[in-house]
Amino acid sequence: MKPLQMVDTKSQYLKIKPAIDDAVIEVLNSAMYIGGPAVNEFAENLAAYHKINHVVTCANGTDALQIAMMALGLQPGDEIITPSFTYIATVETAALLHLKPVFVEVDSKTFCIDVAAIEKAITPKTKAIVPVHLYGHAADMEKIMVIAKAHNLYVIEDNAQGIGCDYTFSDGTVKKTGTIGDIGCTSFYPSKNLGAYGDGGAIFTNDEALAKKLKMIASHGQSRRYYHDVVGCNSRLDTIQAAILNIKLKHLDEYIIARRKAAAYYDNAFANQAKITTPFSAAYNSHVFHQYTLVLNEVDRDGLNAFLAKEGVPSMIYYPVPCHKQKMFDAFGGNSFHLPVTDWLTERVISLPIHTELEDEQLEFIVSKVLSFIQ
Ligand SMILES: *Cc1c(COP(=O)(O)O)cnc(C)c1O
Repeated sequence: MKPLQMVDTKSQYLKIKPAIDDAVIEVLNSAMYIGGPAVNEFAENLAAYHKINHVVTCANGTDALQIAMMALGLQPGDEIITPSFTYIATVETAALLHLKPVFVEVDSKTFCIDVAAIEKAITPKTKAIVPVHLYGHAADMEKIMVIAKAHNLYVIEDNAQGIGCDYTFSDGTVKKTGTIGDIGCTSFYPSKNLGAYGDGGAIFTNDEALAKKLKMIASHGQSRRYYHDVVGCNSRLDTIQAAILNIKLKHLDEYIIARRKAAAYYDNAFANQAKITTPFSAAYNSHVFHQYTLVLNEVDRDGLNAFLAKEGVPSMIYYPVPCHKQKMFDAFGGNSFHLPVTDWLTERVISLPIHTELEDEQLEFIVSKVLSFIQ
């Protein structure tokens, strides 16, 4: 049996090695190391995949979020409503811009922002909602957009974990996550569902004026070279990464299918275990399983984590401390938020290896080790 890893990027690379190597060598030979046709081509292909008008590439998913908040003109003191049960980047960017993150609960089943909690958190200072498609499950975007419209709020989707996920509206319309709000942000960090071999990120919008602004901010606030209209930053998708991503994008749908297959194996194996709640998938979404995350009931979670490590089975706790309890947010009154569902989840979740290269023999081994601990 191949050694187990949370993500097996090496085996995935070996399957497409000739195409990737050629694409990288082509960039090396072109001597176009910044920008160039590879970046534009990838942005166009990514836009076509998402059926969105504009894709602005950038250096990573964290920058994507920051640039989105800057482009919407959010000002110091403005409030953004966001889950606390997320990766720190979602809210760190807000704090960096002196915005005030207002943390709300997540739904205990979908792990995504609790729609009912959003309305209660709206104040005259609220400017935006930042839902996160956590673990590859879509937040309930139709309801979020209704609230946003009623209160004149922007919606920035953190789609770093949700790329490729379909969201079905009640009238049957299907849209990719990241294309429903005013702006969608994603990451090409190597372990993400569309992972580069380094850092990368992208921003989506259907709004042409906003796209121009996003592009300008990502490029030192330039409207044309050496004419700087607004304060921006320097955030570029590396050309070699764009060439790699252009190849990998063609495989994204098959990668998602492979992840779902592994998830289905786990679902089936843990179906009758009272101590394990397997991931829920709402009818409105096509879960893309960036993570396969169990909720444990009356199991020593950290004990299981340590036991699995000893047996050669990696497992991870995403995330051991919710954002509102991170020291970083002490100054923002993080501890004043009372989020029992979030706290409850952070004590009980555990994520098992999930990726595109898992073999049945590996899945069987992982399942047997988990069961031997909990039974
Ligand atoms: C990975 C991730 C990010 C940040 O992406 P980077 O490319 O690492 O900067 C933001 N939000 C979420 C939910 C993520 O998982």
